[in-house]
Amino acid sequence: MGARDALIERFRNIFGGEARLYRAPGRVNLIGEHTDYNGGFVLPAALEQCTWIAAAPRPERRLRAHSLREKTTLEFDLDDPAPTPRHDWSDYVRGVAVMLQRDNQAIGGADLVIDSDVPIGSGLSSSAALEVATGFALLDLAHLPEDRTRLALSCQRAENEFVGMRCGVMDQFASCHGAADRALLIDCRSLEFRLTPIDPSVRLVICNSMVHHELAGSQYNVRRAQCEEAVARLSAVLPGVRELRDVTMDDLTRHGGLLSEVVLRRARHIVTENERVVRAADALAAGEVETCGRLMRESHVSMRDDYEISCKEIDILVDLASKIPGVLGARMTGGGFGGCTINLVRVDAVERFGAEIAESYKAATGITAPLLVCRPGAGAGVAN
Ligand code: ADP
Ligand code: MG
Repeated sequence: MGARDALIERFRNIFGGEARLYRAPGRVNLIGEHTDYNGGFVLPAALEQCTWIAAAPRPERRLRAHSLREKTTLEFDLDDPAPTPRHDWSDYVRGVAVMLQRDNQAIGGADLVIDSDVPIGSGLSSSAALEVATGFALLDLAHLPEDRTRLALSCQRAENEFVGMRCGVMDQFASCHGAADRALLIDCRSLEFRLTPIDPSVRLVICNSMVHHELAGSQYNVRRAQCEEAVARLSAVLPGVRELRDVTMDDLTRHGGLLSEVVLRRARHIVTENERVVRAADALAAGEVETCGRLMRESHVSMRDDYEISCKEIDILVDLASKIPGVLGARMTGGGFGGCTINLVRVDAVERFGAEIAESYKAATGITAPLLVCRPGAGAGVAN
């Protein structure tokens, strides 16, 4: 029995009756870090790893959800006038139901059984996968028309306003709009996007540093404030500037004197990173994987030195990876101060890469780094 049939079978055991199967992928960002809240560009890919939901409609206006990972069931009323978060996994599910309704989507009651092969809490966005799979299922069961951008925005809103996590729209957007063997160039201001093929001769290999420094949350807010300060000062002399997205390197060269040394470096990361993202997407589209890899390496240096969001362990992982033959590019991915690196590796070098990086990282830090070899997978959908 395959995994899909097994989930349907679990549904029968838990709630009874037949179910439809839905899936939504996790994501990894190839390049474009901290550009989202500056109105800039990001280049994520959806993963083959997914959250799976077996779901069926039910007559009452209630939602019941069971997570096989958490081994708990929650139940709530869709018409509750004041839904409050419980501060556990169910907030992601309930938050999506709440935000879909606030967006005038007439969803009905449903039973959901949830499973996932996206690693949880590793920066591969198991949270967005859960939100998008839930939203997709609730909309489909209610026969509502498919609008993936609208769904991504409701899911982001669920995470921002119900779960209480201030994130950009990239994760949910990638989970909705991703496609097999494609990366997704997203303009975070207009939400326009373009799919670009990733050459089948390379793989995305994700290495988990297994460290997560506490700084991440507080420093995120500090970086946002520094970007806002740069915009405030630059827009005084450059009236067209609303966000760092509107600033060029030429502008920074001319008017950088208006900024403190630190704020200038922060702005320089965002301005150069936006350029790198667009160039990386063009390089991928042209099959120029080496160029994409070089831009990834430059991105890491910029995060490390200008934006200062890397850490010792991540720098070690990136440096070690860069020395292994067949590695075209390596950089930290995600918010910073730990988490994962993403490596662009030639298919025929993947095995050696895996063995060598695990061994040398262990020798340098004493830590075993789990690896995930990925191919970009399809966006959310019905799975049976
Ligand atoms: P990431 O998105 O990087 O994996 P987050 O902290 O944003 O990390 O989201 C992880 C949280 O999402 C988990 O703590 C859990 O509450 C929820 N979650 C993700 N997948 C599942 C699942 N299959 N079942 C229940 N909860 C899940
Ligand atoms: Mg998340």
